Amino acid sequence: MPQTRTVRARLPRDSAATSEGASANRRSAAPRRSTKVSDYVALDIVRDIVARHLQHGDKLPPEPEMLRQYQVSRSTLREALRVLEVQGLIRSRPGPGGGTVVGKVEVSSLGRTLTLHMHLVGATYDELLSGYVLAESMTAELAAQNPDRALVKRLMQPYVEEGRATLHRHAVEEGFEFHGTVALLANNRVLAFILQTPGAIVNDHIVNSLNRKLLEDHIVHDHARIAAAIISGNTKKSYLTMHEHVERLVEHFRAYWPQKVGEKIEWR
Ligand SMILES: [Zn+2]
Repeated sequence: MPQTRTVRARLPRDSAATSEGASANRRSAAPRRSTKVSDYVALDIVRDIVARHLQHGDKLPPEPEMLRQYQVSRSTLREALRVLEVQGLIRSRPGPGGGTVVGKVEVSSLGRTLTLHMHLVGATYDELLSGYVLAESMTAELAAQNPDRALVKRLMQPYVEEGRATLHRHAVEEGFEFHGTVALLANNRVLAFILQTPGAIVNDHIVNSLNRKLLEDHIVHDHARIAAAIISGNTKKSYLTMHEHVERLVEHFRAYWPQKVGEKIEWR
């Protein structure tokens, strides 16, 4: 957005970076929210990451270079970097050869942010699990509608083939990959991102503390059925088989963790 860039250029550099100063300079722009200089710098860093096609693990320029580039004080730059670090978009690597590197775009980072809001409104694990069942079912339905049938077949066929499950010792690990692949096939990155967040929170909060081995046979079998439904392009069957599958997992979670289910979602 060139408008934002112009606004930032007009801001008093390294004044106390007050939101008042920012809004006074933005009179012609629609007021959105109070924005600090460090927020603008964070936006610029993200734009530069995208413009330079930087990938996960790539280094950002060293601090002196960034200070020159963004023309802000060290404390403002560090605040901007901290904003991005909290979102999981960059990571600091200590030691020689270290520095700031580009993080991974992960649904779990968004999930972590969401749990803060969910905790504040008092949402429960029960609601999370219900949302998880619906979100995964909708994702399967979208994947079945993907017009690129060749891609659908290529990515789903391995899960249908029976031999694969027995060859793989970590069929449950593969299970996470399966749900990510279905989301990829949903063919809408906005919806895929949103619909994957309940699952990401469930994985972080519940699944990691479970003995997943108990579920392995069911998971492999269910995934084969879902993959076949998605390949056939049958939206209703895709929705229902996924619904049945995730509901089965959820029942297991509820039995394993009965006292937690009525509780508020924690922020972590
Ligand atoms: Zn699964």
